[in-house]
Amino acid sequence: MSSSLSYSLNGYHGIILPGPSVGLDVNGNVAKHIFISHAHADHLPRDRNMHVYASAATEKLMRIRGFKGDVTTLAFNKPIELDTCRVTLYPAGHILGSAMIGVECDEGHILYSGDYRNPPSPVSEGFDCPDTVDYFITEATFPLPIYKWKPHEELFRGIRDFALECLETDTTPVFLCYNLGKAQEVMHALAPLKKRVQIHGAGYKLSQVYSEMGYDLGVYESYNKDTVQEGRILVTPSSSVEQPMVRNIRRKKLAYVSGWAAHESRRSQLTVDKLIPLSDHIDFFNLLDLCRKLNPKTVYLTHTPNPAVVQHYLEKEGIHALPLNMEAHDEE
Ligand SMILES: [Zn+2]
Repeated sequence: MSSSLSYSLNGYHGIILPGPSVGLDVNGNVAKHIFISHAHADHLPRDRNMHVYASAATEKLMRIRGFKGDVTTLAFNKPIELDTCRVTLYPAGHILGSAMIGVECDEGHILYSGDYRNPPSPVSEGFDCPDTVDYFITEATFPLPIYKWKPHEELFRGIRDFALECLETDTTPVFLCYNLGKAQEVMHALAPLKKRVQIHGAGYKLSQVYSEMGYDLGVYESYNKDTVQEGRILVTPSSSVEQPMVRNIRRKKLAYVSGWAAHESRRSQLTVDKLIPLSDHIDFFNLLDLCRKLNPKTVYLTHTPNPAVVQHYLEKEGIHALPLNMEAHDEE
């Protein structure tokens, strides 16, 4: 078996494996079998009427985001035998439904990460992966040793403390985070407070999928301009800061929740009161650990602003690594 994989890129996010004719997060009918890792906009196909394979939760979330095609849903850790290969979805711990995709074919065992996090988000199906693979295609959104995440429980306590301090002084706590994945993690962190949360309308519909599937998001309702200032907690994307829904709240404090909040400079860029560095991507150290465990012949690095540092650390340990020329476009 050779140490390099045959592949081609499809747009800025998708990958085609020509051997087994498999498309991973591709935009249209460019391969025989197409798999979607998760429902973030930058991984969904632009062609909304094709046939794809995805997890059950990803299908529900994709439908809300306008996908109209056929979806064959696959359970995690249950391989499907196709004419050209065998494919297994592994829970990726990134958002609800997110999957790593394992493809076993003539070229060997290939693992495509999509976006992932380990330790997993508590509002996801967890994290699992094969013991070893021949090729690992991995995202590296946070590719520097400055990115080492704090434990979820510590960050969740920070979320609750911020909300309580605001509410005690008649101030509306506003958590700025994107609508799918991070918003629900923040709501799950707030749930033990039993306070009423309002969420941006688009995030509300996505949150209902989490509730239907049994995840505790506490007491929540869709954003309502007439009641948002009546002791509610608001969860909404950063883009709404300049819009009336946030601007018109008289007494408020803003918390920015993102892996990028690890940079103190984000505070002045966004003029927020608090930075909470909660990410749903793997950090630098856990990425290296996973590569060691999987011990592939080659690691391909995708969705990374800077592959050189990860590449350097992997090569130092004798793990061959190559960047794939794909841009970082995640919702985070
Ligand atoms: Zn994502």
